[in-house]
Amino acid sequence: MSDFYVPESAMAIFAHPDDIEFGCSGTLARWARAGARIAYVVCTSGEVGIADSDMTREKAAEIREAEQREAAKIIGAQEVHFLREPDGMLQPTIELRKKLVREIRRFRPEVVVCGDPTVVWVGENYINHPDHRAAAAAAVDAIFPAAGQPHLFEELAEEGLLAHKTRKVYVSSWRDSDYFVNINETIDLKIRALRAHKSQMRDWDPEPRIKEWAAERAKGKEMAYAESFRVITLESDEDWEKKKGKVFADEPPAETDHGS
Ligand SMILES: [Zn+2]
Repeated sequence: MSDFYVPESAMAIFAHPDDIEFGCSGTLARWARAGARIAYVVCTSGEVGIADSDMTREKAAEIREAEQREAAKIIGAQEVHFLREPDGMLQPTIELRKKLVREIRRFRPEVVVCGDPTVVWVGENYINHPDHRAAAAAAVDAIFPAAGQPHLFEELAEEGLLAHKTRKVYVSSWRDSDYFVNINETIDLKIRALRAHKSQMRDWDPEPRIKEWAAERAKGKEMAYAESFRVITLESDEDWEKKKGKVFADEPPAETDHGS
């Protein structure tokens, strides 16, 4: 357990309120407890996700954003940003990529967690929501290479947002997972955070299902409950240390003692 990797900061980018809780909140909660800064970026406000006949999209968006903020608080995230793209019609456009690049350059995460854009179906009973694929594709394309290229979306520099290279990408996935995070100690937080999405849970108690899924992923490993990822490392330890030094050196000097 002592070699558990904890980034200084992590940003989770997903399509809907509750996606982060289902996918990776046990891991985010562990990082938050260990001192990491955590930001949520939610591409839509899930406004078509409440099917009642007397519900409007405006009202639903308000309810679901409030639920998402509550859930993020339970997990220990400091920031929640909604991009307010249209729920149910999310597209991995250049505009969305730019919005995500803006978030990445602003928060400067060490790790970005996102979905797997290649998952169309899982098993025999599940088709992945097209918004999930779109958010995942836009996130991956924003992380690399866009966010790290100073001459791409260079107008963001006018907002004080400079290029940022993410160190690692955690792709939350059931497939091709190569990294399993022990969430024994945070699964209860994950379940509590899911319960905050009252409009989605309704009478459904997430506990048995979440425990069953997490136990399935933990099978054969020295843990009871796990979340699974494919981890892509974009910056080696050495490069990352060098870069940290560079970011520090880029801070404006306290004294102007450099002559000219
Ligand atoms: Zn979703």
